Amino acid sequence: MQKKVPGTRDILPEEALFWQELEKISRDIFTLYNYKEIRTPLIEGASLFNRSLGESTEIVQKQMFLIKNKEELYALRPEGTASIVRAYIENNLDKTARFRKFYYFGPMFRLERPQRGRLRQFHHIGCEAIGSLDPDLDVEVIALADSLLKAFSVKDYKIKINSLGSLKDKKELIALLNKKLKSKLSALCADCKTRFKKNILRILDCKNDNCLKVISGLEIDDSYLCSQSREHFSRVKAGLDALSINYEVTPYLVRGLDYYTHTVFEIVHKDLGAQDALGAGGRYDNLVKELGGPEAGAIGFAFGVERLLIAQGLRGAFGVKSLIYLIGLGEQAKQYCRVLLDELRSNKISCDTDYENKSLKGAMRQANDLQVRFVLIIGDDELKKGIITLKDMHSSTQEEVKKEELMRLLKERLKC
Ligand code: AMP
Repeated sequence: MQKKVPGTRDILPEEALFWQELEKISRDIFTLYNYKEIRTPLIEGASLFNRSLGESTEIVQKQMFLIKNKEELYALRPEGTASIVRAYIENNLDKTARFRKFYYFGPMFRLERPQRGRLRQFHHIGCEAIGSLDPDLDVEVIALADSLLKAFSVKDYKIKINSLGSLKDKKELIALLNKKLKSKLSALCADCKTRFKKNILRILDCKNDNCLKVISGLEIDDSYLCSQSREHFSRVKAGLDALSINYEVTPYLVRGLDYYTHTVFEIVHKDLGAQDALGAGGRYDNLVKELGGPEAGAIGFAFGVERLLIAQGLRGAFGVKSLIYLIGLGEQAKQYCRVLLDELRSNKISCDTDYENKSLKGAMRQANDLQVRFVLIIGDDELKKGIITLKDMHSSTQEEVKKEELMRLLKERLKC
């Protein structure tokens, strides 16, 4: 038997209903905030990610799915931001309106060691607002993430925020870390020893007990922030306070990617275990320029759909609540069923029938399993008299209705 690739999942029809619902809710909320959908390819030139995420990041070093094609090296996208910035520049979107707000859904690929909440193909729901340095935009983006979680009925999440400051401030922070960690290297785990040389900020994300001890003793405050960066962050916090959004300033929250500057945030949930981030994001004010575009401050975030569904506990039963099930008893009745199905669908009423030659009892069981709203039972004799039996599955009552009356009656009861 062929098996799926480790770290990938089949989303079966029952679960797919939850995915549809999440997407539908997201679209509604993104639209409220005037974000527009963008769809970019799943494959990009690998250099896009090397340049944007950074050569020394874990994603670029270890987690990219690479495809070699003659002289070209492609990568399955590990995240959405870089692709969207590429699309913004390549399609000259800044020429018509520099400030743009995008949202997106779709699969991302990272060659990780699979575990609960950590997959090799996972899905993001995310957004990017490109073309503004205004701290109020940071507030809007965090408020949007909060609105999405509320609309998904996710409870007990925590929004952690921090500021990395400008590129210059960030370099200062790196230098500070270098100075403080140099004498403590021997106490760090093997990965962090490598991170010390390659990507020192990542040490602050390490979950190893010894590393956590070292980190908690570092005593780094926000003195690496210049006055403008401090002012930016104060305005973000004041904006969140004004909207009564709960957040926690988390000094060592750094996010490992090179492109982040100023506000960074992460949303965590207690039900997720070791992989506790539901979503994360931040500002990336230099990336558009870095990739060949104009000077354009930007901010975005992404939620992991699989983790949202764990946190949400797949609450609520979604599905087609107004499905109608047709049962034809006899050859002519079955033929009539096919015509009636077509007529119902033309009237935007969703319906289905039995294709397995079930008995009346079997077909009714099937209708029950499908949780349909109405069943139409059509027999050859009744059909000759122009009569159809309409069974209301909510009230468990049934009545005989005239063929000509059926459509009007159904529309009335389904309110469509
Ligand atoms: P990141 O781009 O790493 O900041 O990820 C944003 C969000 O995507 C995370 O908070 C997770 O919810 C989700 N995510 C990232 N990596 C994975 C993964 N390997 N498997 C499942 N979800 C992931």
